[in-house]
Amino acid sequence: MKCRRCKEPAQVALPSHNTAFCPDCFFLFYLRQIERAVKDHAMLVPEDRVLVALSGGKDSLALMVALAELGYDVTGLHISLGIPGSSDEARRIVTEFCAQRGFALEIVDTPALGLAIPEVKARLRRPICAVCGKIKRHYFNLAAIEGGYSVLATGHNLDDETARLFANTIRWDPDYLAGQGPSLPAAGGFPRKVKPLYRLGEYENACFAFLKGLTYATTPCPYSQGASFTGHKALLETLELRSPGAKIAFYDGFLARGRPAFEARCAAASRPLVPCARCGAPTNESPCGVCRIRALLAETPDAV
Ligand code: SF4
Ligand SMILES: [Zn+2]
Ligand SMILES: [Zn+2]
Repeated sequence: MKCRRCKEPAQVALPSHNTAFCPDCFFLFYLRQIERAVKDHAMLVPEDRVLVALSGGKDSLALMVALAELGYDVTGLHISLGIPGSSDEARRIVTEFCAQRGFALEIVDTPALGLAIPEVKARLRRPICAVCGKIKRHYFNLAAIEGGYSVLATGHNLDDETARLFANTIRWDPDYLAGQGPSLPAAGGFPRKVKPLYRLGEYENACFAFLKGLTYATTPCPYSQGASFTGHKALLETLELRSPGAKIAFYDGFLARGRPAFEARCAAASRPLVPCARCGAPTNESPCGVCRIRALLAETPDAV
């Protein structure tokens, strides 16, 4: 098969786009998809100081490289969670990645803040991924606010976004459907949040990371069973194989015609944000959820 653009031998086949590229033309295609996402959803302007959430996985590292290649002012942010088996590897990979490529990096160490995830899991009788996600979002927001960054970028890809949309649709959850999208404007003290990879799937990000020679974390979190909508991703992959392009059509169609129907209801029901009296993060109710978890862990010797 030949590259669609330059007719050299192709190395990356993209059935969803009914095409194939050589590595250099694939890089161009990849960056064009990000530029299109940025333009269509007013994600970034050249003056932005962009804080990029780096988990150590292929998507976030690829995002950092791509945004830097597009000329954006990027700084990495890694949240180290204290999870045995995966957190040390992720932190080492992110640290080496940023050092080798000259990227600035901030690290938030949640165990040092009284929030080691294994301890949280042992003490709180709640689904750990929901609590862990809350803690990560909290420190993403705080780091962006305290560092004066105008925007927070995450490596969520098309598979993450369509699986989440599918889950929200199955439940017809109006609040989540109103709030889902690749670009959320700054509001109530929260920075703008963008997902520039939302047009690119796991496979395309893996190809980009591989062809760029990125070393990324592969050890799964030991608590990840059932996380990230694994079953929904498999269902959508089956659909994509039968009908190439179905995922992006599902998501783009939702943004154009589905989400507006839920946004009006959500805006009417949303509560104003106030600063948390303990940490200063914007919250519906002070103290914020993370300060309450930290206080529970500090004060209660047994399960809470
Ligand atoms: S799988 Fe769950 S517990 Fe593990 S890092 Fe992800 S959200 Fe946190
Ligand atoms: Zn080519
Ligand atoms: Zn707080």
